[in-house]
Amino acid sequence: MSHPLIPAVAQGAECILKLVEAEIESARHTQAPDALLDFEGTMFPLPLADALLGREKVVFGQALELLSEIRSVAEGTHSRLRSDALGGTINRGLASALALELLKAVQKRPEGPGWVGFIPDTVLRALGLLLVDGRMPGVVVLIGKAPDAPTAENIVRDLQGRNILTIIVGDERGESVLPQLEARGVKVGLETYVVPVGPDISAAVHALSFAIRAALTFGGIPVGAADRALSYCRERVPAACLVLGPIGPLAAAAGAAAIAMGFPVITDQPLEPIGKTETTRFETLVAEPDHGKIVGRCLEARGIKVKVSKIEIPVHHGAAFEGERIRKEDMHVQFGGKYSVGFEWATSVGMADIQDGQISVIGPDIDQVEDGGTMPLGIVVKVAGRSMQTVFEPVVERHFHSFLNQAMGVFHMGQRNLLWMRISKEAFASGFRLRHLGVLLHAKIHETFTRIVDKVVVEIYTRQEDIDRLLLQASAVYRQREERVANLTDEAVEEFYSCALCQSFAPNHVCIVKPERPGLCGAYTWLDAKAAHEIDNTGPNQPVKKGEVLNATRGEWKGVNDFVRRASNQTVERFEAYSIMEFPETSCGCFECIIAIVPEANGFLVVNREYQGLTPVGMTFSTLAGAVGGGNQSPGFMGVGRKYVVSRKFIPADGGLKRVVWMPSELREALREELCVRAGEAGVPDLLDMIADENVSVDSDGLLQHLATVGHPALTMPSLL
Ligand code: SF4
Ligand code: ZN
Repeated sequence: MSHPLIPAVAQGAECILKLVEAEIESARHTQAPDALLDFEGTMFPLPLADALLGREKVVFGQALELLSEIRSVAEGTHSRLRSDALGGTINRGLASALALELLKAVQKRPEGPGWVGFIPDTVLRALGLLLVDGRMPGVVVLIGKAPDAPTAENIVRDLQGRNILTIIVGDERGESVLPQLEARGVKVGLETYVVPVGPDISAAVHALSFAIRAALTFGGIPVGAADRALSYCRERVPAACLVLGPIGPLAAAAGAAAIAMGFPVITDQPLEPIGKTETTRFETLVAEPDHGKIVGRCLEARGIKVKVSKIEIPVHHGAAFEGERIRKEDMHVQFGGKYSVGFEWATSVGMADIQDGQISVIGPDIDQVEDGGTMPLGIVVKVAGRSMQTVFEPVVERHFHSFLNQAMGVFHMGQRNLLWMRISKEAFASGFRLRHLGVLLHAKIHETFTRIVDKVVVEIYTRQEDIDRLLLQASAVYRQREERVANLTDEAVEEFYSCALCQSFAPNHVCIVKPERPGLCGAYTWLDAKAAHEIDNTGPNQPVKKGEVLNATRGEWKGVNDFVRRASNQTVERFEAYSIMEFPETSCGCFECIIAIVPEANGFLVVNREYQGLTPVGMTFSTLAGAVGGGNQSPGFMGVGRKYVVSRKFIPADGGLKRVVWMPSELREALREELCVRAGEAGVPDLLDMIADENVSVDSDGLLQHLATVGHPALTMPSLL
């Protein structure tokens, strides 16, 4: 076929190869031959070279040799990476991606102020969860600049409103939408789903690296299995590339790289479209001159389905606004926190007791408070439904946080009577009033809990005397719930729940969610899974009957094993819930923490995702995560949710909490209160002070010394091995 982009890709790829060669040449003076070429914050030194060429570790002295292998890919003479599709464009695309990765690794330069650059593994994992559970249906790489700032804003708002992650990259002239967004006051950052990675087209490789690491991390695809990694990207990574403005040779080469990995390219230029090819699922190149339609076309070309609900409130809304913060200067009013009383409460009532859709504001509205002022607030939501149960009340209530945060200009923190909310000046000026909180809650509760909720009414109180009276009732309920949860043990139930949400990323992984062990992402408790099953009984959460007890101490049940075998596509034979030394539960990729054996200390360390430094096993969280993820069973290691660390069923068969010898201080402080209670129960009330952290030591010798000094119980426990 002939297409004007084919020669442009060839020219661009050649240009990139030359560029890399020159860069290697000039870095000769500053880089040692044995310096490892890598990026910060990933366990894969060169992710693309790793996945596509099987090159796990490359040092600077081998850069030219790697470059010549990449050149053979471009020329179609490589032994494995070979495709004739689109007149060699696929090959040149892959070569461009590999070459740009090499370029960045040789340069080791930040992308400049305001640009994120390389996206670390920790962010990849956090986003992975949003992608699997549908809160983020896809990713769009936005290259180049819009004709004007309002158009740039509209495109990005459109993407945000559909909860799509936007990755911003400059084009080959160094133009991007970033200054345009800044001019319009659009906030960028991971919290708002808009991530600027780099000011020129070479930064497109950060997006490609992100995709290939999803394959390596969640797909558990081995090094060098290029076909499998590429097909994983094509089938499971919902990404597309949107290019604004003229496409020069370098942008064409970057676009070819996207296409080679299965991501369609959408342009606003009058180019002849290209239909499906061997690497894409649907269209390959789409031209859409209308900027009002371009986002829709983009998602359609990738087959990304988005459920957008139309909710009648005067501000934008969507998960992309969830992480937005409102500074004091920008706020019109706040409720709760340490400033006033604020609470929220979901309660179930009889079907005949309420009329769906009633929203009442009882007391003064926010136009009666001085700007920047404070009001008390009580939000009471009454729900009714034939399948509604009292135990689901907290599940519904816990969602208020995400529902309310989805309105642009509304900030929500905490829960129950620890509520803290702010409404921005901008939202107020757009006409946002208290009633709209109710409109939002009503719509989102219906949407999320269709099967258990038939009717919803919302009452919003702002008079102190009403709030005092209702809070008294609510507090009694909060207490009852706590007692209920405390009584909810693994033994007290007949069945656990599975969660297979992450199978869209890690096809052999399944979580067995138990009353005393939430899903490893931390987002699904046993009650959540039970409610989710009630809502959709053919969905990813299924009841798992425990069945015959095979070993009560080690937590092995026949019913669970049978289920796991099936759900893991026969790759996992058995699970032991209470020990990780032989048959631990598998880990997908989105775990909040990792438990890892420290053999010389006869104990375990627990490290959380936020901790970036080294641990006494000589690895960072991200390196450890590589060994643990992908749906594999790795004895001695397991991914878990934070809450599991304070569970009474924290690996009891391996010795429980008394085996913990190290954890980052942040994690220990966050869990301190509950940890203290558990330590007391374990008979070592001062255990917390014996557990080392990064300030004590991040190496094994220092750790052992500390453990001996404080007399840590792990040292005298039976040998783990
Ligand atoms: Fe994924 Fe497990 Fe969380 Fe479900 S519970 S979303 S399978 S990590
Ligand atoms: Zn997962």
